[in-house]
Amino acid sequence: MTGRLDGTVALVTGASSGIGEATARSLAAEGASVAVVARRKDRLDDLVARIRAEGGTAQAFGVDITAPGEAAAVVARAVESFGRLDTVVNNAGVMLLGPAIGTPVEEWQRSVDLNVSALLQVTHAALPHLVDAADDGPRGVSDLVNISSVAGRIATTGAAVYNLTKFGVTALSEALRQEFASKYVRVSAVEPGAVATELTDHVQPGVRENIQAWYAGVENLLSEDIADAIHYIVTRPRRMAVNEMLVRPTAQV
Ligand code: NDP
Repeated sequence: MTGRLDGTVALVTGASSGIGEATARSLAAEGASVAVVARRKDRLDDLVARIRAEGGTAQAFGVDITAPGEAAAVVARAVESFGRLDTVVNNAGVMLLGPAIGTPVEEWQRSVDLNVSALLQVTHAALPHLVDAADDGPRGVSDLVNISSVAGRIATTGAAVYNLTKFGVTALSEALRQEFASKYVRVSAVEPGAVATELTDHVQPGVRENIQAWYAGVENLLSEDIADAIHYIVTRPRRMAVNEMLVRPTAQV
């Protein structure tokens, strides 16, 4: 297989379903060796088998990245396995929507733990490797892609803590972009609208039905559409950086 990401290594969190799974397949098809990370190891093993059957290279890491030390450890294990790290897609996330009164505070904590703290841990562990990859890699550039959301641009009632986490991801991305620009580590924020995935399944009963009805009211994006956006970002020439990409379903207001 020859591709634009030949000789590079990518790590994708939240790769057992949805956007992460589609992204892992897309990057592998472009020649990257892909470390796929999530808790459901059986799903990751199936994904790895599919990537290998398609001629690609991948390895599964069944890890809860919110567990103390695990996010940094999985970055280290991926680098140990593949020898380098050129692309990181910080995709794992939850969208635990609900009213401020009535939502268990544990849901707020889970949102911050995964969408913010675990993303920071992965990022902190990965950045030195991304700097090295930009220095000595086949493309002379490396990529940190953070999956934010339309909710990282527009705050709405019932989404307060999700908004908090995704506004944070967008802000972090821009600040890191500036910090690493001269080192040729590109940092991008991708902000999807409604994508048909398992994301809404985890919303508390009573709220979930309303969210799923809202999703059903627009023709959703597919995970592959966002994987395409990420593929576009990480295959640009060294001189070109896509800093932010807002991708909504055409019919989403
Ligand atoms: P999914 O629920 O399909 O994917 C979420 C992924 O995160 C799963 O692979 C899940 O795997 C993983 N994950 C959850 N908790 C952990 C954990 N503790 N450790 C490691 N992995 C974990 O949803 P999407 O694909 O839609 O979501 C991907 C990203 O896209 C999220 O950041 C979401 O906020 C964002 N997004 C999605 C939109 C949508 O409409 N779908 C819109 C805007 C943004 P596992 O359970 O196996 O650990």
